[in-house]
Amino acid sequence: MGMTTSASVPAGHEGAIVGTVTDRLVEANQHYAAAFTDPGMDARPVLRVAVVACMDARLDLHAALGLELGDCHTIRNAGGVVTDDVIRSLTVSQRALGTRSVVLIHHTGCGLESLTEEFRHELEMEVGQRPPWAVEAFRDVDQDVRQSMQRVRTSPFLLHTDDVRGFVFDVKTGLLREIDPA
Ligand SMILES: [Zn+2]
Repeated sequence: MGMTTSASVPAGHEGAIVGTVTDRLVEANQHYAAAFTDPGMDARPVLRVAVVACMDARLDLHAALGLELGDCHTIRNAGGVVTDDVIRSLTVSQRALGTRSVVLIHHTGCGLESLTEEFRHELEMEVGQRPPWAVEAFRDVDQDVRQSMQRVRTSPFLLHTDDVRGFVFDVKTGLLREIDPA
């Protein structure tokens, strides 16, 4: 599959940091915690919204949507696909933690556009076992957002499906484009 296994920090990135990427994150956390004060919030998102988005590194959800700490639930995976596990998280989000609105965000240049379900077959050939999950690859990002909205709206487990909106984030301009659910 040609996947990289190196865990070291790329040379020249952020100066001469010794150790793995994770070491760097842990060190950053010490600075974060030193300046941190307990905001005294409970776990219920202030804006009562759950955002389901692709895990893409170019999508900074909080900055792109003007979100602050405590405002929302963020549920992310490859593609921002509404899988059974996303429905699980949305169900907990709505029924246990009071969210009412769902925002779905896919984006331009998604890695899932360059994959097909053949990826599962390749995995099976390599490891001798077919993964139980669908790759959820897609060709048409607008259609994929529509399908995701439909999966949320038709889920029997969710309490609130009247405010479900879907968008494509343009990684070149930073703009959201809303997708008509029709
Ligand atoms: Zn993506």
